[in-house]
Amino acid sequence: MAVDINTYHLIQQALQPTHTTLVAVSKTKPIEDILTLYRLGQRDFGENYVQELMEKQPQLPTDIRWHFIGHLQKNKVKYIAPFVHLIHSVDSLTLLAEINKHAQKNNRKIDCLLEVFIANETTKFGLNDEELFEIMSVINDNADYQYIQIRGLMGMASFTNDEKQIQKEFQYLHQLYETCQIQFPYFTQFNILSMGMSSDYRLAIANGSNMVRIGSLLFGARS
Ligand SMILES: *Cc1c(COP(=O)(O)O)cnc(C)c1O
Repeated sequence: MAVDINTYHLIQQALQPTHTTLVAVSKTKPIEDILTLYRLGQRDFGENYVQELMEKQPQLPTDIRWHFIGHLQKNKVKYIAPFVHLIHSVDSLTLLAEINKHAQKNNRKIDCLLEVFIANETTKFGLNDEELFEIMSVINDNADYQYIQIRGLMGMASFTNDEKQIQKEFQYLHQLYETCQIQFPYFTQFNILSMGMSSDYRLAIANGSNMVRIGSLLFGARS
């Protein structure tokens, strides 16, 4: 299935009033599909797998902003550190330390989101609120982490049709996000709340998201 250009414009219209950033999730999709959206002006693309991102990145324009949104293993950080724009899925301090190390090696600062577990499922990754505040405190007090920048939070709602449940989870994450902003004023760039996918992005925007990650709605279903 090809890229749905009509849907792309509809999504952009829906995001415009709140200045929400669209990350086009291109995992498993070919270079040609990415270029189709690129030619329409899309610059933010998201990938889940390091290997796939490594293969695609050199074949595509250098002004694409690559978002890493999948579970990231420590031993793979070095591959994406030279060019990644934003890592959405940081779920431990050891991973953050590894990103910091490779950012320094590449003489750059890497923007990161902390992934929070908000679903009522056991299959999704992420921190609980206690672990989140713990990491925020450590970074807050430690000058060694000068090569990473915590830009905000990311979360994935439950895989369910129950809109009330999804709304509850988004509201919870939004609340955590605002609490962090108040309790950790040191993080002056803490201003990204990444939540919402193909099935729930409207609900996410209505509940405070300012970055959505949309794949199948744009590129068609993944096999
Ligand atoms: C695959 C994926 C998406 C996009 O999912 P769609 O339902 O296809 O929009 C968003 N976020 C993460 C973390 C993903 O893995």
